[in-house]
Amino acid sequence: MIQVDVEEERQEILKRYRRLLRQAKPVLKSGDTKLIKKAFTISLEAHKDMRRKSGEPYIYHPLEVALICVEEIGLGTTSIISALLHDVVEDTDLELEDIERDFGTKVMTIIDGLTKISGVFDYGSSQQAENFRKMLLTLSDDVRVILIKLADRLNNMRTLGSMPRNKQLKIASETMYLYAPLAHRLGLYAIKSELEDLYLKYTDTEAYKDIVKKINESRSYRNKFIKTFIQPIEEELTRQGFKFTIKGRPKSVYSIFSKMKKQGIPFEEVFDLFAIRIILDSALENEKADCWQVYSIVTDFYRPNPNRLRDWISTPRSNGYESLHTTVMSTTGQWVEVQIRTERMNDIAERGYAAHWKYKEKETPGKSGPGLDDWINQVRSMLESNDGSAIEFMDDFRGNLFHDEVFVFTPKGDLKVLPNGASALDFAFEIHTEVGAKCIGAKVNQRLVPISYKLKNGDQVEILTSNKQKPTEDWLQQVVSSRAKAKIKDALREEKRSATVDGREIVQRKLKSMKMDLTSELIEQLRAYFDLKTANEFYYRVGRGIIDPTSIKSFKEFKEQQKSKSKVVEKVKDESTFTKEIKNLKGPDHDQLLIGEDMDVVDYSLSKCCNPIPGDEVFGFVTINEGIKIHRTSCPNALELLSNHGNRVIKARWTSQKEIAFLAGLRIIGTDRVGLVNDVTKVISNELKVNMRSITIDSDAGIFEGTIKLYVNNTEHLEHLISNLNQVEGILKVSRFD
Ligand code: MN
Repeated sequence: MIQVDVEEERQEILKRYRRLLRQAKPVLKSGDTKLIKKAFTISLEAHKDMRRKSGEPYIYHPLEVALICVEEIGLGTTSIISALLHDVVEDTDLELEDIERDFGTKVMTIIDGLTKISGVFDYGSSQQAENFRKMLLTLSDDVRVILIKLADRLNNMRTLGSMPRNKQLKIASETMYLYAPLAHRLGLYAIKSELEDLYLKYTDTEAYKDIVKKINESRSYRNKFIKTFIQPIEEELTRQGFKFTIKGRPKSVYSIFSKMKKQGIPFEEVFDLFAIRIILDSALENEKADCWQVYSIVTDFYRPNPNRLRDWISTPRSNGYESLHTTVMSTTGQWVEVQIRTERMNDIAERGYAAHWKYKEKETPGKSGPGLDDWINQVRSMLESNDGSAIEFMDDFRGNLFHDEVFVFTPKGDLKVLPNGASALDFAFEIHTEVGAKCIGAKVNQRLVPISYKLKNGDQVEILTSNKQKPTEDWLQQVVSSRAKAKIKDALREEKRSATVDGREIVQRKLKSMKMDLTSELIEQLRAYFDLKTANEFYYRVGRGIIDPTSIKSFKEFKEQQKSKSKVVEKVKDESTFTKEIKNLKGPDHDQLLIGEDMDVVDYSLSKCCNPIPGDEVFGFVTINEGIKIHRTSCPNALELLSNHGNRVIKARWTSQKEIAFLAGLRIIGTDRVGLVNDVTKVISNELKVNMRSITIDSDAGIFEGTIKLYVNNTEHLEHLISNLNQVEGILKVSRFD
C-alpha cells in the first residue's frame, strides 16, 4: 500500500478545481460559478472512494476532462458541468433524475448520452456498433456529447501509462479506429494529432521515441533555418502594415511516422518536417484579400510548387477548416510548407466545431459553404435511411470519416462535396435518390463517362438517366459515399421485397390452377423441394424468374410419387430392417476414439509413424497444420512429443460400444420432406455412443411421426442427440418417452 497524504491530496484537488474556474472565467455568466461548484461538489462526493489505475484520486479525471473542454475545445458552462458529472451516473448511485433536478434537462440529456455510450468500444461485440450508432444519434440532439466524449478519451489516452498492456493496446486501437477520425471530422486538429501520437507511443513505442528524439536533436538547426527563412517575409509584412504572428511548427510525430512508412524513407529524408504558419489579425471583410496578399509576398521571395497550392479559403473543407497552403522552395533548396490564415481561421482549425459556431453568427449569409451542418444532416439521413445492421452502418460511417473530399460542380455551377474516390454514381445519389437509381452514365466536362468514373476536383458533372435503369448489387462496389451505399441497399431491399410479393402471387395462381391451396404446410414442402432456406427466398426466386413457375408442376408430380412411396415406408415398420439400415450407414460395430477432457469426438487422423488401432493406448497431439494426430504411447516419437510439447498433448482413448448403458425412447414429429428419414437416421448414426435398438416412422399427409428406441450411456448424450435432431429441417418436436 502506498501511503497517501490526504491533506496534500485535498490541496491538489482544490488547486486543479481553481485552475478550471480560472480558465473558464471568460465564458462564465453570473450564477455559472455557483452551478459549477455544485457539480464539482457532487462529483467529488460521488467519486470520493474511487481511485484511478494510477492510484490518483478519481476526481482528477472529471476535472481534467472539464479542463480539456474549456481549454482545448472552447466549450462553456453546460459542458463543464456535464464533464464534471460524466462518470457519476454510471459509477455511483446517483440517478439521471437527480441531475435533472439540480442542473436541468439539457445537462441531464448530455450526461444520458455520455452514460449510454461509455464502454462503447468493447471489442468484438456488436454492442459496440450499436452503441456507436446511439452516440451518433445524439449528434443531432447535441454535438457536445461527442465533444465531451472526445475530451474523456483524450484524458484516458494521456493517462494510459498506468493501464495494463492488453488494455493499452485495446484502448489505443479503438482511439485510432474511431476517435481520431471523429476528431478530424469535427475539425479538432490538435486533439486528433495528439490522439494519433499517443496511439503510436503505445503501439510502437520504439519508433515513437526515436522520432521524438530526432525532432529534439534537430531543433536548434530548425530554429535557425526558420529564422532565416521568415526574416524577409516578416520585414515586408511589417512594412505593409500587417498585424501578424509567424510560427514554425514541427509536424506531429505520427504524421512524420506515416510519411516515413509510406515513402519508405528515414527521418532525415522527410522534407516537410515542419510548417510555417502565418496568422493574420485581419477584419472579417478583408480576410480573403489579406491572405492572398500575404501569399503574394511569400512567393515574391520563394518559388512556389504549383502542384501544392491549397485554397481552403474560397472553398473551406467540409469540417469547416479554412486556410491557404503553399509549398515553396527555400534558398537552401528545401521545400517548406507555408500556411496562411487569419486568427479566426486558426481558432477554427485548432478548436474545430465549437469555434466554428462561435464565429458562425458573424458570418455573412451564404458564406458558410460546405460546413458541418451539411455533415450532420448527412449523418442524420444515414441514420434514418439505414435499416441494415449496426456494424454495417459503422463501417460505412467510418469509411466516410477517413476520406478526404473531392469538390465538383453541377451543370448550373453548384458546388458538391463528396468523399475522395467518389464516382459519377456517388454524385448522382448526392443530387437525388431518384437520379441515382436511374443513372446510366454521366457527362463530365462535356465528355461521356461510365457510372464508375472517378471524380476529380473541379469536374463539372451532368448525370444521364433512363427510366429503365435499376440499381444492382455491383453498384455497391462503384460508390464510396455512405449516402449512395445506403440508398442502393435500400433500393435492393425494396426490389427484393416487391419480387417476393410478386412471387407469392404467381405461386398462388399456379397452385390454384393445379387445384391446390397455398397452406403453410405446402409452402414448407415447396421450400424443401427447391432446397431453399426460407419460404420468402422461394417466392423471391419465383418473382425474379429464377425459378420457372412451371416447375411447380413437377413438384406436384413428385409429391404424388412421394405419397405412394410413403405407403411403402409405412409398411417397413419392421424394426430390424431399420436397425440394419442404420448399421449400414454407421458401418460395422467398431470402437470409437474419444478425445480431450470431455472425451468428445473431434476430427483426428491416425499418425503414420505408429499406426494406432482400436484398443491401443494412445494420445492426441495438436499439430500446426493437420489438426489432431493420434499416436500410440509406445510410438518412437512419443517421448519427444510428450516431453517437449506437453501443452499440445491431449488425452485420447478408445471406447467400445459395450459401454452403452440405458435404453431411452424418443418421439419425433415434423413436416415431411424429401430426404427427411435419411437425415434423421444420419444424425442418429453420427451420434457416438448411441446404439439404436428400433425405429419406426409414419408419414401421412405431409406429417412425419417417428419413434426411436436407443441405448445411450448418459442423459448428456441423449440431450445432445435431441438437440441435433431438433436442428434437422422440418423437425418440429422431439420428446422423450419411457
Ligand atoms: Mn470518463
